[in-house]
Amino acid sequence: MHPLGDLRRTHTCGALRLADVGQPAVLLGWIHRVRDMGAIIFLDVRDRYGVTQVVVRDNEALVAEAKKLRTEMVVGVLGTADKRSADTVNPKLDTGDVEIVAAEVRLLNDAKRPPFSIADEGPVTEEARLRYRYLDLRRPGMQQHLILRHKVAMAIRQAFDQEGFVEVETPILTKSTPEGARDYLVPSRVHDGQFFALPQSPQLFKQLLMIAGMDRYFQIARCFRDEDLRADRQPEFTQVDVEISFATPDVVFGLIEPVIKACFALIGVDVPLPLPRMPYAEAMGKYGSDKPDLRFGMEIQELTPAVASTTFPPFREALDAKGVVRGLVVPGAASYSRTDLEKLCDEAVQFGGLVTYARRQADGNLQSPLKKGVGEEALAEALTLSGTTAADALLLAAGPADKVAKLLGQLRLHLGKKLSLIDQSKWAFTWVVDFPLFEWDEAEQRYFSVNHPFTAPHEADIHKLDADPGGVRSQGYDIVLNGTEIGGGSIRIHDQALQAKIFRMLGMTDEEAKQRFGFFLDALEFGTPPHGGIALGLDRLVALLCGETSIREVIAFPKTAAAFDIMAGAPSPVDEKQLRELHIRLRNPGGHH
Ligand code: ASP
Repeated sequence: MHPLGDLRRTHTCGALRLADVGQPAVLLGWIHRVRDMGAIIFLDVRDRYGVTQVVVRDNEALVAEAKKLRTEMVVGVLGTADKRSADTVNPKLDTGDVEIVAAEVRLLNDAKRPPFSIADEGPVTEEARLRYRYLDLRRPGMQQHLILRHKVAMAIRQAFDQEGFVEVETPILTKSTPEGARDYLVPSRVHDGQFFALPQSPQLFKQLLMIAGMDRYFQIARCFRDEDLRADRQPEFTQVDVEISFATPDVVFGLIEPVIKACFALIGVDVPLPLPRMPYAEAMGKYGSDKPDLRFGMEIQELTPAVASTTFPPFREALDAKGVVRGLVVPGAASYSRTDLEKLCDEAVQFGGLVTYARRQADGNLQSPLKKGVGEEALAEALTLSGTTAADALLLAAGPADKVAKLLGQLRLHLGKKLSLIDQSKWAFTWVVDFPLFEWDEAEQRYFSVNHPFTAPHEADIHKLDADPGGVRSQGYDIVLNGTEIGGGSIRIHDQALQAKIFRMLGMTDEEAKQRFGFFLDALEFGTPPHGGIALGLDRLVALLCGETSIREVIAFPKTAAAFDIMAGAPSPVDEKQLRELHIRLRNPGGHH
């Protein structure tokens, strides 16, 4: 006989309400909790939809059977919905007004004792959660994450569909497309010694789809990057990948913003449109970051004019080398003890630089370790220039502009957290635009693309490409939320000659470019529409919507920080025969180095 027999679910475990009282009900689910009161046993039965209380009483045989039940066993419960007595109503449960009086509890499957509790969402090691992910995913909180992720994907698909976008699948087995990371490679059995690469993104394919006349493309696409894993990266992740023909940044923003709005509507947050925009130079200048956290102020202050004529050696040297002196105003820090203020300055060392302070004491005296070196007058001007009030203190740093920006940018975030300056209820979006096209790499002595090599230079800067490549802005943009980059893209190069030139500027010979991107350079010559696009990081977006800091919380089966699947045990060794078919011989069988 089928294990379910004649049992058919009448209600989910989240469905019953007062209106159902008196109705017969069959629930199918897991034992969430058991409370044995002797002659009466309460069972909480759980499925994805909720938890319902079942009461077993007035039936000795049934009570005896129920005493054998343990958490996580799979059961079918037949009974009648009843009103709970006033003292047992549970306002925290949707079903909290009712219970089922059991006529039968059928054991559908036994369960081993789980390594951690499903019912209590208390702390469990991540190792255990990942090893027994199917149990971790049984926990109601994790189920909510997966459900919200699904809803986000649905909202995205619907929003794009309405605007005439077509979802097109692009290959997983492909040729290496560069996004600046290492490729995952797949050896070919058929072609001895040759490899596919897993896509780091569908970048070239989506551009080819524009050449193919698809006009508006999107895809919820899996991407693969073999990076040394930093804190919250995954070797495979999901992008909402978009490409649009005849696009300007305005066209792209105008189509993406409503998608973002639709996602946030799912958690009841209204995102006012259009989203603000900020040039990269302003983001670096004011916030020392290309992904500024705009939930709080504390902008970086330019102090150079105040100390322009100083002879104080550290400042003088910085200024003579075309550097800057900049600072941060720490609100309320006038009342800190000297030791506390000095400690605050010491904390900046972890961000790669030295910081000192200046403040006005209650008696009007100026206090600063720089009082002698820089002089009272210049410091007083710095306080005025930066708007440091009698309640605050000013932190100062000197050096090359980009280094000082990064130092103060990180210090700003550190202080924002430490001093609780960040408004946690805010959703602060901004586009960051006008990125530089290239950045110079000292070690390799060549330019790299800040975005990727297909990003178009800013129209107004094209004439500078030869004379001042470092000064050329791109038509790249990022979308930033609460200090996190949630997406990025650009208007692309659609002109073959310009694309070939950019490859050369990146240090590629025409031969190398042809070998790697020949198919794409060829395609560009067959009538390429001007186009542009973007990719949003779906994992990050969903994590933010769930209020989680780690993307592992919103990926069903993630890998560890060491790029390992501890549940399945992957990667793993393979048979000698498989390797032979792939024309591969291991240098270190068994993996010893
Ligand atoms: N392919 C880019 C990325 O993965 C996004 C884009 O330019 O559309 O970051």
